[in-house]
Amino acid sequence: MEIREIPEPVLVKPNDVKIKMSVMGICGSDIHYYTQGQIGSQIVQYPFTVGHEGAGVVMEAGRDVKRVKPGDKIAIEPAMPCWTCDQCLSGRYHTCRKLRFLGCPGQAEGCLMEYIVMPEESCFPLTGKLTADHGSISEPLAIGVYSVKKSGGVKRLKIGIFGFGPIGMSVMLAAKAQGVDKIYVTDKIDERLAIAGKEGAALMGNPMKENIVEKINHEEPLGLDLAFECCGKQEALDQAIDLLKPGGKLVVVGIPEFDLWSLNVETTRRRELSLQFIRRQVDCVEQALKLMKTGSIIVDNMITHRFPFTKTKEAFDLVSDYKDGVMKAMIDF
Ligand SMILES: [Zn+2]
Ligand SMILES: [Zn+2]
Repeated sequence: MEIREIPEPVLVKPNDVKIKMSVMGICGSDIHYYTQGQIGSQIVQYPFTVGHEGAGVVMEAGRDVKRVKPGDKIAIEPAMPCWTCDQCLSGRYHTCRKLRFLGCPGQAEGCLMEYIVMPEESCFPLTGKLTADHGSISEPLAIGVYSVKKSGGVKRLKIGIFGFGPIGMSVMLAAKAQGVDKIYVTDKIDERLAIAGKEGAALMGNPMKENIVEKINHEEPLGLDLAFECCGKQEALDQAIDLLKPGGKLVVVGIPEFDLWSLNVETTRRRELSLQFIRRQVDCVEQALKLMKTGSIIVDNMITHRFPFTKTKEAFDLVSDYKDGVMKAMIDF
């Protein structure tokens, strides 16, 4: 990884917005590209700029732009759909056939750079007490909000979150805002479980050190209503399935580094479990911002580390090695 001087981007289309980046959060997917050079079939061609959890300040706006003006602080929605394909026309912009997503190989360069040009539709003004950090966190948080929405709702339910990185934590924050009953959290990193405890988890378990299925079963002999797989690990999926009650639902949010999931035929069939996969999010950025603005969601415990832009490599190495209890590391420009 290195920092290169490149020409400043310029406005091309009338709805383009030029943004000076303020802050960027490092995402697990950025780390996949950094350490593996790919996620599934999306393979990096070097040189390539990663990053999609950004916030900044508007410097210049094209003549058709109405939503923002120079000087505005904004959150950046990294998805740039075509707005015309069958998926877009049915409101599924996140699975657009011609989707361009920031920092996604073959689609668009990422926002790990000082200046970037984005379409107006990707700019969400940060108003009131919302900061650039809130803007950046709105991207992973929106995935939590969306996952809870796709789960069918968590109000007064008992749920499990298997894998407590920033996405697992986003699911938890969204579930709490919706009035969940109890949240059980598992992760292999004790510092992350400590954050889950601070956030009010009913029980935490580390699968490296204890039998988490027995431990959670002991508290919830009837099983969990919903389980969110948030780490992309087969064991986590198996544990989630073991802990679901008949009629329960498994929501798969994690991104695995392998090609095939396996499902226990007996358990999934006899318990008539439902299965919902999650692909990022759609239409949830504004809601995530609103939940933070009203104080329904407080993300302060998520940001554990900050690095200046010049120390980006150190930041990526720290996150990829899961060092120092890192949850979310931010790059300040
Ligand atoms: Zn992300
Ligand atoms: Zn489309």
